[in-house]
Amino acid sequence: GQPKHWQFMLRLKMPAGEFPRQMYQMLDDLSDDYGNHTLRATTRCAFQMHGVLKGNMKTVLGKIMNAGGSTMGACGDISRNVVATPAPFATAPYTYVREYAKYIAEILAPQTGAFAEIWLDGEKAASVEYWKKDIDMNEVQKIIKKDNKRGVVIKNNEEPIYGDRYLPRKFKVGITVPGDNSIDIYTQDIGLVVICNAAGELQGFNVTVGGGMGRTHGKENTFARTGDHLGFVRKDKVFDLIKAIVATQRDHGNREHRPNARMKYLVDKLGIDEFRKLVESYYGASISRWRSLPTWKYEDFMGWHEQGDGKWFMGLFVENGRIKNEGSFQLKRALRYLMDELDINMVVSPNQNIILKDIEQKHKGMVVQVLKDHGVPMPDEYSRNRVTAMACPAFPLCGLAVTEAERHFPSVVDRVDNLLDKMGLKRTNIIMRMTGCPNGCVRPYMAEIGFVGSGPLMYQLWLGGTPGATQLAFPYMEKVKDAAIESVLEPVFACFAQNRKRNEPFGTFCARYGKEALEAFAASYTPG
Ligand code: SF4
Repeated sequence: GQPKHWQFMLRLKMPAGEFPRQMYQMLDDLSDDYGNHTLRATTRCAFQMHGVLKGNMKTVLGKIMNAGGSTMGACGDISRNVVATPAPFATAPYTYVREYAKYIAEILAPQTGAFAEIWLDGEKAASVEYWKKDIDMNEVQKIIKKDNKRGVVIKNNEEPIYGDRYLPRKFKVGITVPGDNSIDIYTQDIGLVVICNAAGELQGFNVTVGGGMGRTHGKENTFARTGDHLGFVRKDKVFDLIKAIVATQRDHGNREHRPNARMKYLVDKLGIDEFRKLVESYYGASISRWRSLPTWKYEDFMGWHEQGDGKWFMGLFVENGRIKNEGSFQLKRALRYLMDELDINMVVSPNQNIILKDIEQKHKGMVVQVLKDHGVPMPDEYSRNRVTAMACPAFPLCGLAVTEAERHFPSVVDRVDNLLDKMGLKRTNIIMRMTGCPNGCVRPYMAEIGFVGSGPLMYQLWLGGTPGATQLAFPYMEKVKDAAIESVLEPVFACFAQNRKRNEPFGTFCARYGKEALEAFAASYTPG
């Protein structure tokens, strides 16, 4: 089916993915009253609602804003929802992640009142956005207007940071702690890593720049790119540096050719050293060297964890982020029941899963029982490859899709699991992602196997991303028909089984072995 163009998709802004229970309850109602009875957790730690009719838009937006939510800054050529590691640990670095995510979200929020004028008829929303209560909004205004006389701030402009023309393209910021790469830091326009000393005091941030996934098939001047290390910044200077980076992209990003407008193309054109100098000319000082970090790990925080404040959180696998009721699978009902009955809250993760947090020890059993009664499996009841897989909405919900992703992908992962089984590789965890077009919304170019839609049930196959999401995959084969997935992957798996180093992950192996050697192996391979 084709997307229905008279229906709208509505995307919420929720810095660090935090969703208090009242907001969730309201959104759950709205999706039933005005949407398609589902909610979609996205890779930017937010919820989307599909199927809102144009005539209902004003009502729905008004309700969201009046309840302390927002959709402003979820779309457009400005900073998108700021993503963060979703783990609600009470420890120092994780607490700083959440605090700074909210500050950055507000500092990079559009300042104009135009949005409320359109959607609330110029009225002020009855409630202030929920995350603003966690930060000092006077401080935010000071930071936005702070002028270092180097052209970062555009004077007497309603938008001191963005100016009259906003940014050339969307802009993505993510923040995490050392070692936890749940945010895919190298895919962000700006990535931040909280650096604390041994006593847990915040020192500053490592900063990456110039990541981005979107590309177009057959257009070599568009490409997926991993971010570079810009350097380290002290905590009291971090907002100055972020403003300087945004101003650099604002003034030097490509405004002539929209497909090349993301900041990654500017960083790529200049190279990181020249880009750093350009940023320094706005920042007014030299940027310190990147501090060395532990190895990045894939983290999804499935199952039970202690928060560190006496309460518990539970990571729940949500296949492709879709919260729905379907037959005996009643996830949406189960979540609503839990949010109504218990004083708990929710976080949407950058992997389209959710975390139920602030759960008291005595309620853990009830949470499990409610999910079970509603036919919702625990994460460890799925194959690990299903849990680590992601697909984008694609058909029939996304206008850019050329093929299936979300609806089709679970069965593809099962088929890959069966193939691994057959090849004696049963326990191999492979991070797989599928998108309905090369725009790459679920970051397929970082996956160990990426399926990128290139025609009706046809995919470009990418290999060689790593579990820690530190390097780009490479395109292994064009236009692989869905029915041919097994026959294309079998020789690659056979080669992996024969030639892998001890404990070498599949993606790391593919990257080391290389495209040509894999092709040569496949050419001489006889199927078993
Ligand atoms: Fe749509 Fe393409 Fe993004 Fe999938 S990757 S949601 S098809 S734009």
